[in-house]
Amino acid sequence: MRFEIVTIFPEFFTGIFANGIVRRALAEGLVEVGIHDLRAFTHDRHRTVDDRPFGGGEGMVLKPEPLAEALASLGIEPKEAATSQAAEPPGLVTGHDFSRAEKASKSTGASAPDGSRSRVILLSAQGRPFTQALAREIAKLDRVVFICGRYEGVDERINELYCDMELSIGDYVLSGGELAAAVVIDAAMRLIPGVLGNEASSEFESFGVADAEIDTDVEGVPRSQHGAGGLLDYPHYTRPAEFAGLKTPEVLLNGDHRQIRLWRREQQLRKTLANRPDLLEKAALTKEDRKLLDTIRETEN
Ligand code: SAH
Repeated sequence: MRFEIVTIFPEFFTGIFANGIVRRALAEGLVEVGIHDLRAFTHDRHRTVDDRPFGGGEGMVLKPEPLAEALASLGIEPKEAATSQAAEPPGLVTGHDFSRAEKASKSTGASAPDGSRSRVILLSAQGRPFTQALAREIAKLDRVVFICGRYEGVDERINELYCDMELSIGDYVLSGGELAAAVVIDAAMRLIPGVLGNEASSEFESFGVADAEIDTDVEGVPRSQHGAGGLLDYPHYTRPAEFAGLKTPEVLLNGDHRQIRLWRREQQLRKTLANRPDLLEKAALTKEDRKLLDTIRETEN
């Protein structure tokens, strides 16, 4: 898996991948990151990457030519040219957001001749919202090229000609796409097999697979220890058992695993109801969950 980042601030990334899981994944060669300085693809004395917007208005826009050259240096051709040479192989990315992307039909998939799966993503406040589901799709690819905008954004023809998706990391405006690229890479990287210590753990976190069949035992208690099933995670505690006058919930200390599972599930439901009620609509809820939810709603009203 290789991530390529096209940016006018290559130094931005020197510290950002130097810690924790990401650093280890890079050191072990599970993942590679290539940083590409957009200014290296300019030809004037001032190394100009931006220009004033046609039609007037505030700010500057990233010019198309240096971006096109940067992409060409990565072997990425404009879609029209590429589609006339080769049709997109079927089933590049199945099921999820990429294949549903509006532009997928005219996408080249930027697929290399060896059939490896590669995508070009434009970071943009106008993009589709980034989600855990999308992180899972990205983690299945062989190469992802990120274009980081600056100023007012990127000349739209770059989007049209080269990008498979416009991606936004949230409903706010950043000053550049670099932080957004780092967010997407971090979230996708930890889903690549071998990167997280415990393979199973990412499935059971917040936003875990919503349509997962959650195993239940005969009493309707979710069998999995965590089993987020589309809910937010439950709260975590570690030693000391009492801190600043606050005790760890008794149930976590008594070693009754059935009680612990039940308590954690209830906490997940509580937290999701309080902070993200929208997630409850799509979550995989058991009969027991619905009963718990009713009780929570009653006691809170
Ligand atoms: N004029 C644009 C904002 C440009 S911000 C607008 O109103 O939508 C400059 C750059 O920061 C963008 O080109 C994009 O690459 C990046 N950016 C800003 N907000 C972002 C977000 N929420 N998600 C991803 N990238 C973002």
